[in-house]
Amino acid sequence: MKQLIQNQRNFFDSNTSKDIKFRIKQLRKLYSVIKDNEKYLMQAIYDDFKKSEFDTYTNELALLYCDIKDAIQKVKQWAKPKKVRTNMINFPSKSYIIAEPLGVTLVIGAWNYPYQLSLVPVVASMAAGNTIVLKPSELPAGTSTAMAKIINDNFNPEYFTCVEGGITETTALLAEKFDKIFFTGSVPVGKIVYQAAAKHLTPVTLELGGKSPAIVTENCKMDISVKRLIWAKFLNAGQTCIAPDYVFVHHQIKDEFLSLAKKEIQQSEFSFKNGNYVQIINEKNMHRLIGLLDSSKIHHGGTYQISERYFEPTLMTDISFNDTVMKEEIFGPILPVLTYDTIDTVIREIKTRPKPLACYVFTSDLTIKSRILKEISFGGGGVNDAVMHITNSNMAFGGVGESGIGAYHGEAGFKIFTHYKSILDKPAWFEPNLKYHPHTQNKLRLIQWMMGQ
Ligand code: NAD
Repeated sequence: MKQLIQNQRNFFDSNTSKDIKFRIKQLRKLYSVIKDNEKYLMQAIYDDFKKSEFDTYTNELALLYCDIKDAIQKVKQWAKPKKVRTNMINFPSKSYIIAEPLGVTLVIGAWNYPYQLSLVPVVASMAAGNTIVLKPSELPAGTSTAMAKIINDNFNPEYFTCVEGGITETTALLAEKFDKIFFTGSVPVGKIVYQAAAKHLTPVTLELGGKSPAIVTENCKMDISVKRLIWAKFLNAGQTCIAPDYVFVHHQIKDEFLSLAKKEIQQSEFSFKNGNYVQIINEKNMHRLIGLLDSSKIHHGGTYQISERYFEPTLMTDISFNDTVMKEEIFGPILPVLTYDTIDTVIREIKTRPKPLACYVFTSDLTIKSRILKEISFGGGGVNDAVMHITNSNMAFGGVGESGIGAYHGEAGFKIFTHYKSILDKPAWFEPNLKYHPHTQNKLRLIQWMMGQ
């Protein structure tokens, strides 16, 4: 690891990766390497957890292609020094801000959307002019190998390399000094990464998880709300960081909600055979999910086959925060339904818990909508929809509080991999003696006036 990072540092110091033409060339290359290997990548992810071509394209590769194209188109603009106004005290200078790449960067990926979550941050780091070490999650072993192969076969490792491995390899990487660490994963591992980064004062972006609530009010458009909610929850078998973890439903519409939700699950035909469902990532997670079930509270579903890593889309009802399923992030296809009387209770309950990565409100009540958006702090979310906000790279994506530090996608991604260097550029032909000795009252008054005081 030491040698690899030193080689990247030497390459960075050669200034090659800072060149805008080089950045665009590498982004184009990344685009075509992925395009050329699309079938290979799709097969690898299908072998890992039966993710279909449709799902792999729409919720992994399509987002990645959009981000690469966006970066290619806009990187020149993003990287341009920005002129700003100079204050009077510095007359006659120019002031500008230079977007400077941070250096050698480390991207650590999560397993649930392995291509998107590993490579979208890479795009941002490339666009910003850094060198990159990517460490994808080891859990989907095939996708990790596929990424390592296509990257390491096509890129100079001194510029961009993929290191495969689990805890041991990540720990070894984290012992080294990087100029930026971008981590996607769980809150406990996020804390390990943060601590390791602190030893070198390395800036971090942490894309973490947690329990993201959805709220369904009595006056929402029920059929479409349930359709969108069920899709968002069971996409990727619930293994989505921004999936609605649980849902608060107004008590008056509980029965209607449950009946529509059950009908929607049945109509959606979540099955491996038709490519509309994926496996739970491993047996360990199967057992963890089974442990969250309470048979007396299952409204629909609840069956599973451990050897197949199949877990049926499940609705649980009459749930309170005392139930086991409410004690941790579910990260699987179980939707607990809680009921509420007043929106004040909902807001209070959410606010007493860690700030969620996402929050969704399904309502046509404008007061409730604005109260949720104003009173609850969360990473991002949707009104009358769930999960889809991630697809708009004009909006930064990230958490807040316990659900993460920093945000990316589009220009926001460029910014977190960039240092903004502020420069006051002064000519040498004029130097008022205001700041120099002797310090008179007149000089002080003039300085105060110039500073608007
Ligand atoms: P994880 O934290 O177990 O693993 C993430 C990465 O950290 C992997 O590359 C893994 O190899 C590495 N790792 C694991 N244990 C480590 C250790 N002890 N020391 C050093 N490195 C270690 O997370 P996961 O299971 O891959 O993903 C699930 C979690 O990630 C969920 O909490 C989910 O909400 C969150 N997530 C967040 C986002 C987001 O964008 N905010 C996206 C996807 C997943």
